[in-house]
Amino acid sequence: MKNIVLFGPPGAGKGTQAEMLKVKYNLVHISTGDVFRFNIKNETALGILAKSFMDKGDLVPDEVTIDMLKAEVNNNPEANGFIFDGFPRTESQAASLDAFLVEKNTGINGMVALEVPENLLVERLLNRGKTSGRSDDQDESKIRNRFNEYETKTAILKDYYQKQNKYFGVDGVGSINEITAKLEAVIDAL
Ligand code: AMP
Repeated sequence: MKNIVLFGPPGAGKGTQAEMLKVKYNLVHISTGDVFRFNIKNETALGILAKSFMDKGDLVPDEVTIDMLKAEVNNNPEANGFIFDGFPRTESQAASLDAFLVEKNTGINGMVALEVPENLLVERLLNRGKTSGRSDDQDESKIRNRFNEYETKTAILKDYYQKQNKYFGVDGVGSINEITAKLEAVIDAL
């Protein structure tokens, strides 16, 4: 089993790259943001709760997010492995994921991080907002708050995985194909 955490700030290109990598490695792609958006669209209780946080650019509480992630993994018992996109985003989520995977006799092979300077990200997100329909991509103050959440709660996960010798940074500036090739070189070696 190969389990990859695809990491990076909002707008780094995680979703786009995950779509390429899941095909190449035959992995199940779990994007917690996508699962929340699906629930919002279908007006489930989880969606209504998540929306109140996502609309502001705040993180959804850990307990809710962790339970949802576990359910997604458990729904794919035949998976060859997973690409986690947008999860974990806090140290508590990372620790829960480790414990959960240990129970399943597996673990995270590596965190592969897309490194992109912040000034490029805001521009990318505002551009994406024109076509994605995502309200959190259309408002610069929401985008700034998402970066703030990233800096204060998520960025420390680099240390978390570095301590386990599992952090691999990749330059996330360039064409989609160039970046995919760099990610594949890292994943092939895991
Ligand atoms: P994303 O699609 O990954 O950019 O996520 C969009 C929004 O969903 C985030 O700004 C958060 O409000 C919420 N979200 C997604 N993943 C998580 C997570 N792992 N923990 C908490 N909130 C999350």
